[in-house]
Amino acid sequence: MLSTYRGRFAPSPTGPLHFGSLVAAVGSYLESKSKSGNWLVRMEDLDTPRCIPGAADDILHTLDIFGLRSDEPVMYQSQRTPAYAAALRQLQNSGVAYPCCCTRREISDSALHGIEGPVYPGTCRTGIPTEREARSWRVRTDGQVTEFVDALQGVISQQLETEIGDFVVKRADGLFAYQLAVVVDDAAQDITHIVRGADLLNSTPRQIHLQRLLGLTAPAYMHLPVAVNEAGEKLSKQTLASPVDVSQPVTTLIRVLDFLRQEPPKTLANGNVGTVLDWAIKNWDATKLQGVKSIHA
Ligand code: GLU
Repeated sequence: MLSTYRGRFAPSPTGPLHFGSLVAAVGSYLESKSKSGNWLVRMEDLDTPRCIPGAADDILHTLDIFGLRSDEPVMYQSQRTPAYAAALRQLQNSGVAYPCCCTRREISDSALHGIEGPVYPGTCRTGIPTEREARSWRVRTDGQVTEFVDALQGVISQQLETEIGDFVVKRADGLFAYQLAVVVDDAAQDITHIVRGADLLNSTPRQIHLQRLLGLTAPAYMHLPVAVNEAGEKLSKQTLASPVDVSQPVTTLIRVLDFLRQEPPKTLANGNVGTVLDWAIKNWDATKLQGVKSIHA
C-alpha cells in the first residue's frame, strides 16, 4: 500500500537530546509508522547563536541508538536560507510583510501583554520614519480568529492580532524566524502530519496564518503532552534537563512508552530496541493522551 502519511521530528541542536525531546521523537515516529508512513528528521539549526557544535550529530547518533532513523536524508535548516528568502519575498510582494525599526525596549514600553509576552503595538505597520532603519520584518495579523482541531488537544482558537500581534519573520540579527522556516520546510518536505510537544501549541495558529498567506496546504496537528519537572517546568536545556540515558536504551524507551501511557508489558524489558519498537508500533494508541498537555516525568 502506498502511504500518504509523512511525519517528521525537528529537533534544534542546542544540546544533547533530553527526555522531553525523545518523547516527541518517539511519539511522532510511532504515529507515523503505525500508519505505514514515512518519518523524516529535520535539523532546525537555524538559530545559529543557540546551536552547539557537534549537537546535531550527537542527536542523530542518539536517535540511531533508539532505532529511530530518518526515511530520507536529514534536512538542515542552515542550508535552506534561499527558500526562506523566497518565502519572505512572496510575503513582501503581497504586502503582508513590512519592515520594522522598533527595538525590543520600545516594544515592551508601549505594548499590551499577550499570551507570549508583549503584543507588537503596530508602530511600523504604515511605514518607518525616514531617519530610522529597518531592523526586522513582520507579518501582518488581522482580527480574524485562527482555529484548528488538534488530534489530542481539540479545538484551538487564537485571535492573532490581540493575543500575539504582528510577528517577526526575519529577525533583527538577519536570521529567519522559526515560524517562517518551519512552515516553508514542512511544505517543502510534503509533511502531512505534525506530531510535537504541546509547548508549540501556541505557535500553531501563527504557522497556519503563514501557510494561508503563502498558499500552502496545512498539515494535520497532534500536540503531545510535554514532560515537566516537579515545579511544572518543561524539561529543557534551560531547566537543566539531563541528556537521555543511552547506556540502557531498552529501559529508556520503555520509560518513554510509559510516559506516553501506552502501558508497555513488563516482558518488553527482556527484548531489544527493535522488539520494543515493533510492539509499540503495533499497539500505538494516541487516544490514551487525549486532552493531556503535560505529564510529570
Ligand atoms: N525545533 C523545534 C524545537 O525543538 C521544534 C519545531 C517543531 O516541531 O515544529 O522545539
